[in-house]
This record gives sequence, structure tokens and C-alpha cells, in this order.
Amino acid sequence: MESEKIIELSVEEPFCFGCHNHVPCFNECCRDLNQFLTPYDIIRLKNHFKLSSSEFLKQYTTQHIGPQTGLPVITITPADRFERVCPFVSASGCSVYENRPSSCRMYPVIRVLSRSREDGKQEIRYALLREKHCRGFEQKSQLTVREWMAGQGLASYNEANDLMMDIISLKNQTMPGPLKGHLQKLFYTMCYDIDRLKAPGGAAELEISEIPEAVKNDDEKLLRYGMNYLKKYFMALQSK
Ligand code: SF4
Ligand code: SF4
Repeated sequence: MESEKIIELSVEEPFCFGCHNHVPCFNECCRDLNQFLTPYDIIRLKNHFKLSSSEFLKQYTTQHIGPQTGLPVITITPADRFERVCPFVSASGCSVYENRPSSCRMYPVIRVLSRSREDGKQEIRYALLREKHCRGFEQKSQLTVREWMAGQGLASYNEANDLMMDIISLKNQTMPGPLKGHLQKLFYTMCYDIDRLKAPGGAAELEISEIPEAVKNDDEKLLRYGMNYLKKYFMALQSK
């Protein structure tokens, strides 16, 4: 049997799956980690630990710059080098469950967003990732993809992640080479290290106008503010 299979399905299509602490593979998927974090994942996790974004990024993540795009990529640093176990897994399951990243919530569903270059129309496609080690598919509970996403509390994650995809796609269209210098720092701060925007002089350091206090006092608003700033920046380049 292949170790994994991808099966396309529609948002209203049901699939059998269940994950709980009685499945024989409990916690299996929290090792051999290659876990990317989105900007929204980071605000949820850093607030879970009551850390600033800078402290969270330093303590729990590994960062690199995509060589073709110059965009920062953030992954969770595994707790050990060999089994690459997630630092948040415990014997009783995920210790950050209420703030776990979007990819952990979505699994075993894959959601792919694309936008037509001609008319900008958005298309979202779904698939199931059936991996050999995952015994959740042997469970009897049945949900549609839509019900699965609602049960996993994915609405706010998907909204922010879709905005991020828009920004990346606009950046790649308008600046196909690697992002560098000031723009790279702006991108990193606005998407990942948002608490730096709250610090006195944070906006001035990035050469942007002062951010309204009401935005600074709400991480979700602050993230949306920063990401929309980047979106508008790349859209302005597009219209030149
Ligand atoms: S964040 Fe939680 S669910 Fe996701 S890999 Fe880590 S322990 Fe597992
Ligand atoms: S059923 Fe799948 S998702 Fe759940 S613990 Fe097992 S491997 Fe992970």
C-alpha cells in the first residue's frame, strides 16, 4: 500500500474520520515535524504562552528566507533532532490544543486557494490526505468538509491565511525576485513579529505612519492592519 493518497472532494462531501486519545496512533502525527506557522498561528500561540511575538519566535521557531522569493518562512523548532517531535505534544495530547496551528486543525483535509489571473476570481479546492500511519480513517464518525472545518474553529484561521496567500501572490507578480532589505524587514514585522509595531518608535523604525492605539491594542486587528498595508503596497506596484 502507498504511504499516502490524496483524494479530491467537495466541501459538502462527507468522509469518515475521528481523532481522539483512544486511536492506536494517538500523537503519531506530532512527530517527524515539518510544521509551518502562518501569521495568525503565531498570534494565537504567542498569546497562549503570554509571550511577545519576538520571544515566541526566538523560543519556539526556526526561520529561514526563501531563496527565490526572499520571503521569511517560519517553522516550529522540533523538541529533538532525531524524531523531530513537536515541543507542544504531551502524553495526553496537544498541550496548546485551543490555539493549535491551522495545519493541525485542518488535517486530514487539504484546502487549496487559487485566484484566476484573468478575472481575480477565487477558487477553493479540497482534498483528503490519507496517510498510512493515520488510523483516524478507521473511525465511524462522518462529517462533511464544511462541518469538519466548523468543528475545528477554522474560520478566523482561513480568513487570515487567505489574506496571506493574496499578499504572497501579489508580491510574486509584482516583485518576482527575492525581497530584500527594508521591505523584507517590513514584511517580517507586519506578518510575524507584530509586537514590535507596538513599541515606541516601532512604526517610525519601519518608516510607516503611527498605528492607531485601538489597532495596537488588539492583535487580530494589528495583524490585519499590517497585512492589508502589505497588500495595498503590492497592489500599488501592480497598477503602475
Ligand atoms: S501543535 Fe499540537 S497538534 Fe500540532 S503538531 Fe504540535 S502537539 Fe501536535
Ligand atoms: S488519528 Fe491521525 S490525526 Fe489523530 S492522532 Fe492518529 S495520526 Fe494523528
